[in-house]
Amino acid sequence: MIYFIFSCLLAVSLEAQEQTIRFGSPFDFPLKLSASFGELRSGHLHGGLDIKTEGVVGKPIHCIADGFISRATVSYGGFGQAVYVTHPNGLISVYGHIQRFSPKVAKAIDDYQYENERFLADLHFEPDQFPVKKGDIIAWSGNEGYSFGPHLHMELHNSETGERIDPMPYFKDKILDTTPPRATAIYFYPQRGEGVVEGSFNTLSVPVTALQKPLSAWGKIALGISANDYMDGTHNNYGVKFVTLLLDTMKVYQSTVAAYTSLDNQMINAWTDFHEQQVNNRWVMRSHRLPGNKLSFLETKSDGYITIDEEKDYKFTYILQDGHGNKTSYRFTIHGTPCEIAPMNTQGYELLSYDRMNLLLEPGMQLVIPKGALFEDAVVQTKVWNDSAAISHTYELNKSPISLNMGCPLMIGVRNYTVADTTKYYIARVVNGKLASAGGKYENGWVKTSIRELGTYTVAIDTIPPKITPRNQKQWSTGHISFVVGDAGTGLKTYRVELDGKFELFGFNAKSAILSMKHPERLKKGVKHELKIMVEDYAGNNKEETYTL
Ligand SMILES: [Zn+2]
Repeated sequence: MIYFIFSCLLAVSLEAQEQTIRFGSPFDFPLKLSASFGELRSGHLHGGLDIKTEGVVGKPIHCIADGFISRATVSYGGFGQAVYVTHPNGLISVYGHIQRFSPKVAKAIDDYQYENERFLADLHFEPDQFPVKKGDIIAWSGNEGYSFGPHLHMELHNSETGERIDPMPYFKDKILDTTPPRATAIYFYPQRGEGVVEGSFNTLSVPVTALQKPLSAWGKIALGISANDYMDGTHNNYGVKFVTLLLDTMKVYQSTVAAYTSLDNQMINAWTDFHEQQVNNRWVMRSHRLPGNKLSFLETKSDGYITIDEEKDYKFTYILQDGHGNKTSYRFTIHGTPCEIAPMNTQGYELLSYDRMNLLLEPGMQLVIPKGALFEDAVVQTKVWNDSAAISHTYELNKSPISLNMGCPLMIGVRNYTVADTTKYYIARVVNGKLASAGGKYENGWVKTSIRELGTYTVAIDTIPPKITPRNQKQWSTGHISFVVGDAGTGLKTYRVELDGKFELFGFNAKSAILSMKHPERLKKGVKHELKIMVEDYAGNNKEETYTL
């Protein structure tokens, strides 16, 4: 009871805050979104709003409220460049993928980069260093880092807890949305050995256009839904803020994506149907809680599992709602149809339990799956591909991919030493016949790494250094010097560029693999220069090229 009162008070105070705080717009043009808060992404939830910048970079970004610039970051991927503003109300606003910092912050970053001779930066500032007022220009919008089109990625954090908060309630009046969310299909998950849908243990997806016909089911089942939200005047799709599942009038499940923690981020593969996402590229929100799912914003009755044990109609309703209150409902019926449920046949499979440590062993392979790494019990089948000339066997740790909630130590034995230098050996994941590095180090006959997914793994070698390809050399005399740097094996680990024997700042963009000189104006005109570029991959393969210009 006490908890109930507390949560009510909390809800009221948050809502009151949203109404009293008036954030300014970051832009002086109408706001349109290309992504919403809490959208489902690979391995995480989308932490903010993606605001369109009229198709171009370089739009001035205005600070949404008074405060001070508390942090600025530079990275190869992710936000690329980002600036953080701390506000007196306990919120931090974050502006990512920016093209340029404000001049004073840019100088602080530059000084750090040249002093430390490194491009990557994560600087924290004191409140009196860079105070800002609502409306001040704090940066210019861009397309830096892991961004695929000019936009501003804006987040709100709780400065105490680090929680990500949906910025939408604060900007609702600046964004037009009269379009409700829509579902594409409803998923039915009979629980293996305990329930059937349409006489089968298999997952069944039914398009929302075919929901009039009642389905038959018996025993323990669970549901899921594939849905998106939409907004006026855009062609994008967005995450659905509220999903509710009713059985008759009883609430079986509700998700409210208004705020989340970093722990929630790790739970994303438990909330979604991981197999469906990996194999068919479809995002399904499960309306049930897998045993290992600790997601904070799910409310369920009996963890969302449903037992069909009466010969009658079970009437379900899904209600989807967005942050502006636009709603869509879907109704469907399951007819309880008694039937014999055969126990699960596990012959030839290994049973992994989510609530204990599991060990997968094959000749030349060992995988430890610590307690807490699986979201639910799993039946897996390991296959060993044995090629006598290969460096190691290849291990298929289950055909269908299974997500692991933490790095699980995997070791594979080396059978053929095709090169003597053991620092060149690494573990590769085999995806559609192609190798992708899963890292790793050689030790006493084994290559060891840690993996986050059950898939197919083998040992590979990387003896080839990263490839350096000069770009647009005609422009180099103006200081616009750039290269493409790629490594097919273990990937680029470090680089260093020297101009006339001294460190020069070059930025690397992981998305484009382009390495470029950050300050073309530093290249003195009319004199000869020597440019040296040094690169190294994760297997210790080095390369050095020198150019005169
Ligand atoms: Zn974004």
